[in-house]
Amino acid sequence: MIPLKTFVSEHRAANLLAQARWRDGIYCPRCRAESVIRHGSYRVFQRYRCKNCDRTFNDQTGTVFGHSAVELRKWFLAVYRYIRFNTSLRQLDVELDVSYKTVYRRVQRFLRALDAPRPQLEGPVKIDELYVKAGLKGRKRDRPSRSRGLSTRGRGSYEQDKLPVFILADRGTGDRYVLPAKAADESTIRLLLANRKEESLTVYTDGFRAYEPLDEDDAFNREYVVHGDGEYVDGDAHVNTCESHGSLARSWLSPHRGVSKDKLTSYLRTFQLRRRVYRKPGEETLKTILETAL
Ligand SMILES: [Zn+2]
Repeated sequence: MIPLKTFVSEHRAANLLAQARWRDGIYCPRCRAESVIRHGSYRVFQRYRCKNCDRTFNDQTGTVFGHSAVELRKWFLAVYRYIRFNTSLRQLDVELDVSYKTVYRRVQRFLRALDAPRPQLEGPVKIDELYVKAGLKGRKRDRPSRSRGLSTRGRGSYEQDKLPVFILADRGTGDRYVLPAKAADESTIRLLLANRKEESLTVYTDGFRAYEPLDEDDAFNREYVVHGDGEYVDGDAHVNTCESHGSLARSWLSPHRGVSKDKLTSYLRTFQLRRRVYRKPGEETLKTILETAL
């Protein structure tokens, strides 16, 4: 159920903001002291005074929603629709009755604030990559366009405008991650698999050469699957998880045709967040979205 009441009441929106923001207690955004007292209000927002630095602030101060002439409830509707329904910004400006530029700036600010996923891998982990065509949208090209589409060595890189995106499916925790990278090479792969709970990690990969060094490393137990000839590890259905998750990520990106490569990370974090709230009720979804950015 869409949390409609929150989208029509600025008071409800302000309450939800306070709940999400101060979920671990109220503190001063300037000096981080926790000794704060209530100090009147600013518009619909509770105001506070810090007993340590004597400054005042309100529920909205210093958040991605601060300093806006547009009502908070409209920004809530914008981020809700954006995450839940992948609504384009061009559509949002019409529905919010706010200029495209205003929507664009605020949503980008929100996206920059989204937490980066931090995998804590338990394993076994299936790792796979896909390649997303992304250029420098609306900006000068960094190389002549004629080289686009020519087949080159390797599977793709940041420089070639074909960005590697790694998909990690951790069977231990049940979590999945979609992580863009500048290159699909050994050091990137090691970095992606670095945060693990146990010394040794079982990793399922395909036959891509960049995964081969894992064979020599005691920290990994690598098992690999050859694509295309139907050979899967012990008939384990799990190995298909990455591919289906990858195609979900691809279709998530498709309304944003020609994703700019410096924005790909934000789009994929949005996708990650969308997967987290996929089956949650509206009010809880909105709260989760806010907590991720506050
Ligand atoms: Zn303070």
